Amino acid sequence: MSDSSQAKKARTSSFIEAIEEDRKNAGESVLDFKFNKKRIRILTELDEVAKNCRGVVYWMFRDSRVQDNWALLYTQKIALKNKVPLHVCFCILPKFLDATIRHYKFLLKGLEEVERELKSLNINFTLLHGEPNSALLEFVKNYKMGAVVTDFFPLKLPMFWVNDLKKNLPKNVPLCQVDAHNIVPCWVTSDKQEYSARTIRNKINSKLDEFLTPYPPVINHPHTSEQNLEKTDWKTTLKVLKVDRTVDEVTWAKPGYKGGILELESFLKDRLDLYNTKRNDPTVDALSNLSPWFHFGMISVQRCILEAKKFKKKHKESIEAFMEEAIIRSELADNFCFYNEHYDSIKGAYQWAIDTLDAHRKDKREYIYSLDQFEKSLTHDDLWNAAQNQLVEYGKMHGFLRMYWAKKILEWTESPEDALKWAIYLNDRYSMDGCDPNGYVGCMWSICGIHDQGWKERDIFGKIRYMNYKGCQRKFAVSEFVKKWGGKVHTHGKTEKK
Ligand code: FAD
Repeated sequence: MSDSSQAKKARTSSFIEAIEEDRKNAGESVLDFKFNKKRIRILTELDEVAKNCRGVVYWMFRDSRVQDNWALLYTQKIALKNKVPLHVCFCILPKFLDATIRHYKFLLKGLEEVERELKSLNINFTLLHGEPNSALLEFVKNYKMGAVVTDFFPLKLPMFWVNDLKKNLPKNVPLCQVDAHNIVPCWVTSDKQEYSARTIRNKINSKLDEFLTPYPPVINHPHTSEQNLEKTDWKTTLKVLKVDRTVDEVTWAKPGYKGGILELESFLKDRLDLYNTKRNDPTVDALSNLSPWFHFGMISVQRCILEAKKFKKKHKESIEAFMEEAIIRSELADNFCFYNEHYDSIKGAYQWAIDTLDAHRKDKREYIYSLDQFEKSLTHDDLWNAAQNQLVEYGKMHGFLRMYWAKKILEWTESPEDALKWAIYLNDRYSMDGCDPNGYVGCMWSICGIHDQGWKERDIFGKIRYMNYKGCQRKFAVSEFVKKWGGKVHTHGKTEKK
């Protein structure tokens, strides 16, 4: 166990209590709170809550937390204004992209915490089964909901559900979307696909004063529902899933809001001093490790930045670097997926990248591996195999190695199309933070130069930026990383020493 995880285990919840105190002191109650309307996209024409309704509903999908959630805060504000009960629904799908039981267990345990917390605030929680455009629609009709609020997830499937719901909701029920994930709402930052971090940085930074603000608390809801709602059976839910169960869950990441805040606390207290200088060294424990909780929306980036900024005097460079990654890079990824429907395909790359990959399509490859060989860490490269082991076993590959890993898949695969497809598949299947805009953009950056520029032309890569083993050796002690993660064989998440 690393020093920081020992410290984390020993730590009490002092940080959680301090955040609660801060939230209470943040200002007005949610009803008086002046909600920044730019966080909302009204998707249907009518924006009045339906008359004689029996409640309003927040369809939670990307942001599975109670506090620090602009979408839930906005729904509560509407419910209070209209003096009606407040409902939260989460639609659980039997399968989502390439996610496995590893992801589902993490999500479901987090949702159990959400249900308990909502109950303590007199807010109803219902776990619905099936696609939101049918399951939620039925809930709205059966329970006479007067408005639907949802969060923002710019991947194709969630965007399709939102659009479909918009078409099929009863005409008197408005639907709106609140960006509860990005600090500056994606549609406010820019109305087009941005070229790179350079072009989006100032568009975001210039709006932080307006959007990087404290959260009011979600309060005890005064209007109780008299309707007979279905109780959640968590055990059966886990049983009926149709996902791959061969990929083990990870034990280091404690699901839910509290687990996320504990990780934040250990980052800010134990690792922040190293973040600026050592975050590209895979042998050092310097990263925040927060991506699994960010991906499932169990904690908010905005909360983490507000907390991190309290350490700015002591660790200025590290805080700036963390803000660059957690705000600029991540919001750039959302921008790409929102404005480019081909975010997971070579078709979504810039023309120069498509042309250069095409020109080098027939170049001789020294090594060619199948997906199965990649998945089982059976390449000739001990660093690549060790990184793949870390992904499979730990559920999170170090950020620096993710770039090397994906670029080598391009180098050792017959076509760039297969390389991109396989990198996305392995990432989504094993990474705790997979199925995320950051992941699609990470793979697109590595394999098709998205948000990057053209470099010196070479075989297979063309003008796509190249990385090699020697370069890694110059950056960190490759042998140390290989000693820790190499020399193993695994099948589907279960690893044994060779
Ligand atoms: P930290 O360095 O502590 O960063 C804090 C947060 O900043 C991250 O949690 C993330 O939200 C954001 N961030 C950091 N780096 C990036 C980046 N390059 N792009 C966008 N946001 C960033 N990130 C995912 O969240 N999910 C993925 O599935 C994913 N797959 C990737 C695949 C490849 C091939 C590459 C090159 C990158 C991928 N990334 C992915 C981006 C990045 O590597 C991870 O966000 C980071 O390693 C997560 O670890 P951390 O939270 O400890 O990072």
